[in-house]
Amino acid sequence: MKTYLLISAFILTTAINGQQVFNKTLKLMGSRFDITVVAENETIGNNYIDVAINEISRIEKLISSWDAKSQTSEINRNAGIKPVVVDNELFQFIQRCLKISKLTDGAFDISYASMDKIWHFDGSMTAMPSEDEIKKSVEKVGYQNIILNEENSSVFLKLKGMKIGFGAIGKGYAADKAKALLIEKGVSAGIINASGDLNTWGTQPNGKDWMVAIVNPLNKEKVFSWMPVKNSSVVTSGNYEKYVKFNNILYTHIIDPRTGYPATGILSVSIFTKTAELADALATSIFVMGKETGLNFINQLKGVECIIVDENNNIITSNNIQLNPLKND
Ligand code: ADP
Ligand code: MG
Repeated sequence: MKTYLLISAFILTTAINGQQVFNKTLKLMGSRFDITVVAENETIGNNYIDVAINEISRIEKLISSWDAKSQTSEINRNAGIKPVVVDNELFQFIQRCLKISKLTDGAFDISYASMDKIWHFDGSMTAMPSEDEIKKSVEKVGYQNIILNEENSSVFLKLKGMKIGFGAIGKGYAADKAKALLIEKGVSAGIINASGDLNTWGTQPNGKDWMVAIVNPLNKEKVFSWMPVKNSSVVTSGNYEKYVKFNNILYTHIIDPRTGYPATGILSVSIFTKTAELADALATSIFVMGKETGLNFINQLKGVECIIVDENNNIITSNNIQLNPLKND
């Protein structure tokens, strides 16, 4: 659950003009997925939902760093040893990840996965790690050491002990791919929602846009504003009740891969843009960048907007977002 800025989709379920909404919730990629499609009847609707489920499972098998049989795990096993030839799909995905790393100046970095776990956000820490420990924890992190060879579609992690993981982008990628496949199959409208990271297309059967609710961070039962999501995506990062406080600074559980220090100052980031993949990666990046740098960064990107909730529960929006707070809230 995204507790700070809950984004939930509003769905009407009655049939109109022979079109109806069908919906299934299940666990995929270690997360709760809600798959929604518009179809003529239940049989057709369920078939489409199965198409999406199969696609998401296929992607999970390719990119999971938990699954020892995945190509991603093979890349990790061969860190510092040799390049691994992978499917074009994975190669291009990693290529896009590196582009986002460059764009965000390393705030987003799939090689974050080799970081030593010196921070614990379960209340067990009594002192801050030493500067040395913090520095050492990110020694093997650095997207510059992910070497891609386009000619044979191979990936090489230069340093022994390096590791990549797609925790901050994989769900978004899967949502995009499932959507694309359903559109290809002729599904007129739907929502792929990976625990609040969602991508929509088409409209509800009554012709209205899919809507998401932005929840008041101070009163999570109450909707602060509704926003339409038209053939695009919304991703929220930072639902973490887990944090640790030293010298009155609140450290949250996303860690800056460049410094080894946890991000501070932000409770939640929601990104609005065309693809869930980019939205997912940028949500994590803004967390790492912090409020001011992050907001400036988003305001310079075309077609990307954000809502940030800071540590004082202030809601901050990028230049082209208009929240229309509900009067009775
Ligand atoms: P959520 O878990 O709510 O989907 P994110 O999309 O922000 O949140 O993903 C957080 C996950 O991303 C972490 O659990 C970790 O696997 C991975 N991660 C953490 N920091 C980074 C980073 N700087 N760059 C890339 N991935 C990261
Ligand atoms: Mg993310």
